[in-house]
Amino acid sequence: MTRPGPSQDDRPVLVLGPNPTPNGGMHLGHIAGPYLAGDVYARYQRARGRDVIFTTGTDDSQTFVLATARRRGIDPEELCRTATAEIQEALTAIGISVDGFGPFDETYQATVLDYFRRLHAAGVFQLKTVRLPYLERTGEFLVEGMVEGYCPVCLTICRGGLCETCCHPNNFDELLEPHSTLDSSDIPTTREATILVLPMEQHRAALTAFHETWMPYWRPHLVQMIREVLARPLADVPITYPLSWGMAAPFRETPGQVLNAWLELIPAGMFTTSYCAGQLGRHTPPGQLWQVEENRRMVHFLGFDNAYFFCFPHLAMLMAHGDRYIRPEWIINNEFYELESEKFSTSKGNVVTCQELLREVPRDLVRLYLALTAPEYQRTTFSRSGLDKVASDRLVGPWNRLAGILGKAVANAASGAAAWLPVSTAARGRAAAMVARFDLCYEMPTFSLTRAADTILVHIDRLAGRATALEGLDIDVESEAWGDVFMEVKALLAAASPILIDLAAAAREAGDFDTELGPHVFDSPAVTPFPPPLLSTEVTVPDTAGASARAG
Ligand SMILES: [Zn+2]
Repeated sequence: MTRPGPSQDDRPVLVLGPNPTPNGGMHLGHIAGPYLAGDVYARYQRARGRDVIFTTGTDDSQTFVLATARRRGIDPEELCRTATAEIQEALTAIGISVDGFGPFDETYQATVLDYFRRLHAAGVFQLKTVRLPYLERTGEFLVEGMVEGYCPVCLTICRGGLCETCCHPNNFDELLEPHSTLDSSDIPTTREATILVLPMEQHRAALTAFHETWMPYWRPHLVQMIREVLARPLADVPITYPLSWGMAAPFRETPGQVLNAWLELIPAGMFTTSYCAGQLGRHTPPGQLWQVEENRRMVHFLGFDNAYFFCFPHLAMLMAHGDRYIRPEWIINNEFYELESEKFSTSKGNVVTCQELLREVPRDLVRLYLALTAPEYQRTTFSRSGLDKVASDRLVGPWNRLAGILGKAVANAASGAAAWLPVSTAARGRAAAMVARFDLCYEMPTFSLTRAADTILVHIDRLAGRATALEGLDIDVESEAWGDVFMEVKALLAAASPILIDLAAAAREAGDFDTELGPHVFDSPAVTPFPPPLLSTEVTVPDTAGASARAG
């Protein structure tokens, strides 16, 4: 097994965002969690010149699709289509630079079926007769997104299969006081069903060894959950369910049943990886880029609420394929993001979509604020007044002061036509120190959107102060003192480019500027002066998400 390496690890990278369930659009809470984190990480890896595939895709088989469609009285397939379009629109609008969005097509389904068939043939699954919640009135089993009750571990309200608060599984008939999610007066009985399960205890030793290696590098809440789960008997995980929605299970002993949608996510990731590689012009069959020989490091960004699946059954199933596939080296979880200190809730109307906010606030300002307040270690909240305050007082105000002074300096120097300015050793040292701090924010195991966003604001403030002082002293615009500021601003723009994507794109368009990052990029005795682009607090230009999504 590969152990965590330093940030100079130049192996190709595979970044996975969780596959969003197409039962509604995407709100800021989703974005501030795994998608912005995955995007910033992928952009940073690209800026370091690494081979990156950043992927996600749709997750049509989830029972949450069926539950929402029934609540809204619409066809579930139609819901998948409209919600998938809304999700893709949101990802593009906010600039999430996935290399493609894997569809639920024939290749997806073939990849999933092949993955399960191989495990089935190897005897990894067992037939088990269990009791499942059953609604006599409709003659349906109620599992997963169709049923709600109290979690047997933490006693909060949760859905079947998994508690999104404590992240413990609740399988079969373990949910307390269950009722239908569509109608709380619909109380299920239980009925026997013979299904295939993944006997998790058989994988305890391998899972424990894996987690002991990686847990020291992961976030504390995830580690707590892993330790809690390992401290109990590992519950068998349903592989099939007697349901009408989902992919038909291809096993003779479970006729008419479907696959547990949660467990599609790993082969789905293999499919979307191949799909995205294809979008980049590299055509490989699904699964190939996950093979150990490819020596790719895999990074999962996901919400805490579904981390159990990634840390337990998904890993167990990957391991059950032998040493064929890579395993996640990093599982970076986030907590819930709230809207004005209340839970995001589409049904209660407490929701802001990316598209809505981006009609009022420029994208870089939104990205910076979401990064600054990202729920990395605990629940945090979006506040519109907080966004406005940070955007004007800490970002746009000081940046435009800095950019304005440098723009004036360039204009004044034009008469002297200085093609370059000297840079002091001290300033080269400061640029290197700054880049090293950003490297800690963007790289594992210290990755932190919040610290990266704050570091950007700290350096804008510092350099604005420096430029103001030079201007006040009326220092010669062709002097080393100005060269120093230009070099440090150049380093800051490059280091901020994974978050402030439009500012970085504007700087690149202004010419003679790239946003490559690395330890020695700014170690040069000369810099070309340039007028940095300005930021606006108003939305003035049409959305250019598609054009710049791959930039940087
Ligand atoms: Zn719970």
